[in-house]
Amino acid sequence: MSTQATKKPFGVPWETDPFVTPWPEMRPFWAAAAEGRFLMPRCGDCGKYHWHPRAVCPFCHSRKIEWIESPGRGTIFSFSIARTWSPPHAIAFVKTAEEPVILTQLVDCDFDALRIELPVKVKLAPVEAGRWMPFFAPER
Ligand SMILES: [Zn+2]
Repeated sequence: MSTQATKKPFGVPWETDPFVTPWPEMRPFWAAAAEGRFLMPRCGDCGKYHWHPRAVCPFCHSRKIEWIESPGRGTIFSFSIARTWSPPHAIAFVKTAEEPVILTQLVDCDFDALRIELPVKVKLAPVEAGRWMPFFAPER
């Protein structure tokens, strides 16, 4: 019987997180997020931002991807409130100022005050797995 399979992947440093290691092109994102900085990928050839991060530009197929620090501002494109979850969650697509739309969770908000086009700002926060994830909250 193996003893390795009993260790849970939670609480590990982001550098050894099994969600991070298969996608080395994401490492700059996770490293910056752990420092409280939100990076977005931009193509060095066509200049367009994209999300989710990937090694190849989805518009021109260039591999020249640059990481640009973003203030993380956007507006709610659409959202849904999962009231049957415990605790309830607000899941949203946020249209960033840079153009890409990010699937995320809205935090620090009154669910009844949410509306399409509400200005929101990124809020990086640690999750149980050890990574710092980009959530969004209404701008105040
Ligand atoms: Zn491109």
